[in-house]
Amino acid sequence: MVKTWGQLLELQPTVLKMLKNSLLKNRVAHAYLFEGMRGTGKKEIALLLTKSLFCEQLVEDYKPCESCNNCLRINNGNHPDVHIVEPDGLSIKVEQIRNLQAEFSKKGVESQNKVYVISHADKMSVSASNSLLKFLEEPNPGTVAFLLTEQVQQLLPTILSRCQVLVFQPLAPQMMIKQLIENGVHPAKAPLLAQLTNNLEEALKLNVDEWFAQAQKIVVKLYEVLKKNPLEALVTLQGDWFLHFKEKEQIQRGLDLLLLIFKDLLYIQLDRQEQLVFVEENERLRQYALQTSGRRLSDQMSAILDAKRKLQANMNPQLMMEQLVLKLQEGSSFV
Ligand SMILES: [Zn+2]
Repeated sequence: MVKTWGQLLELQPTVLKMLKNSLLKNRVAHAYLFEGMRGTGKKEIALLLTKSLFCEQLVEDYKPCESCNNCLRINNGNHPDVHIVEPDGLSIKVEQIRNLQAEFSKKGVESQNKVYVISHADKMSVSASNSLLKFLEEPNPGTVAFLLTEQVQQLLPTILSRCQVLVFQPLAPQMMIKQLIENGVHPAKAPLLAQLTNNLEEALKLNVDEWFAQAQKIVVKLYEVLKKNPLEALVTLQGDWFLHFKEKEQIQRGLDLLLLIFKDLLYIQLDRQEQLVFVEENERLRQYALQTSGRRLSDQMSAILDAKRKLQANMNPQLMMEQLVLKLQEGSSFV
């Protein structure tokens, strides 16, 4: 689905403000490099600006109308002066860049303008990069290039220096949730993923990751044991936790999940339903939230953050977790 200027402005306000200024001042660059993670709107914004360059009836002098012949053909991917290059298999090959150049040596088919978009520009082979470099060094008037990448450090510095580099911001949680759902993630699972990472790629991987699904269950179980049978918490730690959370990175992930449970409990108490991330555990957590105080929850969250710091400082994970569990159960019979 094509996103409008307004929708993309929500996604990347800084980038779009800059581009709007360039359009209004007639200072569109010959080459742009859009750098940002997957899902941050790089291609959509490249095509949005392309439409602004070709549109026959701009709105407010910079926004594409989305309804003229040119806008419609760009949206449908069949405008003769707009070319999109994607990796052919694993890389972008030199022939693909040569074809592009051949195409551009003709005058614009319909107008003086031509636009090309190179998606995953970091995947250009060395010869493709060199070929593109020549192209960037002698820009034809009226030609605009958009290079898109998630890995800017893989590009030749000589290419970078020919482009105006725009950095795309990672997605805010609400936008991330939207994107995850658009990518097929169950709405009940999206908020937790969005809280753990702002990288769409990573979130989509976590969504189908068996280890991660199991990790959530173990963390909820640890919380429940702490609540119901604090004395058994150390047993649960030995039986489940240490078998599942082995590497430091995994333990950090486990602590993040545990922290989010306490945050959810706090949000339930504050009646901020829209902030909850363990949507599927909502009913159970609601019961627990009634049996504790905000003060105690915030002490427990501090204890978890403290444990994360200790782990980072290379404290023995076993010892760190045992201390944490003792802190989390402290005074639990009084709340
Ligand atoms: Zn238009």
